[in-house]
Amino acid sequence: MAKTALITGASRGIGAAIALRLAQDGFQIAINCLDEKNRDEQGLAVREECQKKGVSAECFIADVSSHEQCKGMVEQVKEHFGSLDVLINNAGITADGLMVRMKEEQYDKVIAVNQKSVFNMMKFAGAVMMRQRQGRIVNISSVAGVYGNAGQINYSASKAAIIGMTKTAAKELGPRGITVNAIAPGFIKSDMTDVLPEELKQKILTQIPLGIFGEIEDIANTAAFLCSESARYITGQVLVVSGGLMM
Ligand code: NAP
Repeated sequence: MAKTALITGASRGIGAAIALRLAQDGFQIAINCLDEKNRDEQGLAVREECQKKGVSAECFIADVSSHEQCKGMVEQVKEHFGSLDVLINNAGITADGLMVRMKEEQYDKVIAVNQKSVFNMMKFAGAVMMRQRQGRIVNISSVAGVYGNAGQINYSASKAAIIGMTKTAAKELGPRGITVNAIAPGFIKSDMTDVLPEELKQKILTQIPLGIFGEIEDIANTAAFLCSESARYITGQVLVVSGGLMM
């Protein structure tokens, strides 16, 4: 029976690239979209691209910062596909600003979407995987979580927490045959980084030893590896995929 992968925030960017890459590897794909608008405008196109690769794919609506909505989504995915074998916690946002000027809501929102979502999803999907006695979880962190980044106290906190959560979940779920790893991307070309000022982009580029920005497929390929049989003995690790930025 084909295995099922659920990818959060899969309507565009890195999440959509991971969905397509895992579809290529034969997984049934559950595409998480934030809301109906997001599904209709972007998610359905990702679904069609996955289906073109010969696998089943469906969109599931949930705001991953909501505990209840995550619970409902995991139940729906299990009901629809019959199993849940891979979870990719990819959904994320930024709301940058210097610490002394940052508003409380700005901090709380990023923590809720980037960090609490990982607890929500690992809790409910992890329970399903424990019953199946196998599974793979990949959490998308960031170099900002490993090394810090001025102007991103909220984002860095959320992404650093994901690393601690990854290691904790790896210890709790390992005995049931479930691996849990994190990927820490550097600068990857997507809507999230497109909005940065050109001057800042050029400055960052000078700090990347490989001399180029990453593509969304670079992260998708790493996620696919961590979900493959080749990675069966890797758990609790953080793979930095950054062209050498911050090492
Ligand atoms: P992106 O293009 O902005 O895409 C983010 C995705 O997350 C969108 O599909 C978005 O949906 C979804 N999302 C946001 N809030 C959500 C919520 N509450 N519930 C469900 N889905 C939600 O970003 P990206 O560059 O692909 O980034 C993907 C992940 O990689 C993020 O966790 C990010 O922090 C991490 N990352 C990215 C980079 C980079 O350089 N790009 C570097 C390090 C880490 P909408 O379309 O509705 O907004």
